[in-house]
Amino acid sequence: MHVYVDNAATTKMSRTAIDAMLPYMETHYGNPSSLHSVGQTAAEALQQARNTMAQALGCEARELIFTSGGSEADNQALISAARIGEKKGKKHIISTRFEHHAVLHTLKKLEQAGFEVTLLDVHEHGMVTAEEVAAAIREDTALVSIMYANNEIGTIQPIAEIGALCRSRGVLFHTDAVQAAGHVHIDVKAQNIDLLSLSAHKFHGPKGVGALYARKGIVLTNVIEGGAQERGKRAGTENVPAIVGMAAAFAESCSRIDQYTNTLTPLRDQLIEGLLRIPHSALNGDRTHRLPGTVNFCFEGIEGEALLLLLDQKGIYASTGSACASGSLDPSHVLLAIGRPHEVAHGSLRLSLCEANTQEEISYLLTVIPELVSYLRNMSPAWRDLCEGKKPFILK
Ligand SMILES: *Cc1c(COP(=O)(O)O)cnc(C)c1O
Repeated sequence: MHVYVDNAATTKMSRTAIDAMLPYMETHYGNPSSLHSVGQTAAEALQQARNTMAQALGCEARELIFTSGGSEADNQALISAARIGEKKGKKHIISTRFEHHAVLHTLKKLEQAGFEVTLLDVHEHGMVTAEEVAAAIREDTALVSIMYANNEIGTIQPIAEIGALCRSRGVLFHTDAVQAAGHVHIDVKAQNIDLLSLSAHKFHGPKGVGALYARKGIVLTNVIEGGAQERGKRAGTENVPAIVGMAAAFAESCSRIDQYTNTLTPLRDQLIEGLLRIPHSALNGDRTHRLPGTVNFCFEGIEGEALLLLLDQKGIYASTGSACASGSLDPSHVLLAIGRPHEVAHGSLRLSLCEANTQEEISYLLTVIPELVSYLRNMSPAWRDLCEGKKPFILK
C-alpha cells in the first residue's frame, strides 16, 4: 500500500489544474505583455485567473498580485508593511514564535535594518489570542503578522478577531494563509485582512506560484525589480500556465471546503484517537482548533527521522513536521514554541491528509505506526533509561 500523508509539504496536482494549464503551454504560449493576439490571449487568461482568485477570497482582482509562491508573498508583504510604517516613524512589528521561516527570516532582516520585533508566545495549544495581540500593540506598531494555520501542527488562529482588532487600532494586518487557503473559508474583507499570502502547491495547484493580496491603498514594495508586470509591483514575465492552474485549483478547492471538512475531520480524529493509545505520546497543538487534515504527534524516546525512514519502507510518506533538512540537529522551532523539550521535540511525526486518503489507509497507519514506535523504542538507549527510571518520562 502507498499512503501519501504529507499534504502540508505539498499536494498532488488536481486533474482540473493540469487540464487548465495544458493549453497555455501547447497553444496559447504568448507573453501577456506582447501586443499581438497570441500575447493578448495569454493576458486575458491572466485577467480571468485574477478574477477567479479574487472572487474566492472576497476581494477585487486589482488587489492581487501573482508571485513565485508563498515565500515570496510573505517576504513582499512584510517588507512592504515595514516600509509603510517606517515612513510614519513606526518601526515595531508583532508576530509569533511559530511562523514559517519565510516570515521569521524576513523579520530577522528587518530587525537588522532597525525594526523592533515582538514574537508572541503560542502556549502549549499552539494558539495566540486577540487579547495578547492587543496587549502587544504600541503607538509605533506598523504591522501584525500572524499565520492563519500552522504548517507543522495545523492549529488555526482567531484571524477575524485579530483582523478586527488591528483595523480598530490602525495597524496593518498580514496573515500567512498558505496552509489555510483552499482548506478553510477565507473572506479578506469580512475578516479585516490587509495582506494575505497563499501558495498553489498546497491546494493541488502547481509549485512555484502563489499570490499576495494587498488591500487597495496599500503600496507594495518590489522585491524583484525589472519590468512593469503586475502593475509594476513584481517584475518578470508571468508564469501563465502556472497561474491559470492555480486559479483552477483554488476555485475547485474553495468550492469543496465543506465536503473536504466533513470527509477529513472524522479520519483525522480517528488518527488522533488511535495514536493517543501509544504510551508516552502526545498530540501537538489544540485538539479541535486545527485544520481538518493535519495531525502532529510526539513519541517519547525515539527520533522522528528514524521513524520516517521505516515508514517509507512500509509505503507511508509522512514528515517530522519541521522543514529543516535531515541531518540538522535543531528540533522544530514550532514544537519548542509550544513548550516541548528538545528530547521530546525530536520524536515528532506529522501526518497531513487530503481527500484522496481513505479509511483503509487510516487503518493501515494505525497498524504500522504503533508497531514501528515500539520497534524503535526497543532499540533506543534513551528509552531504556526512561524505563529503568534513570530519567523521568516527560509525556504521560
Ligand atoms: C509552504 C509554506 C510556505 C512557503 O510557500 P512556498 O510556495 O513553498 O514558497 C509559507 N508559509 C507556510 C505556512 C507554508 O506552509
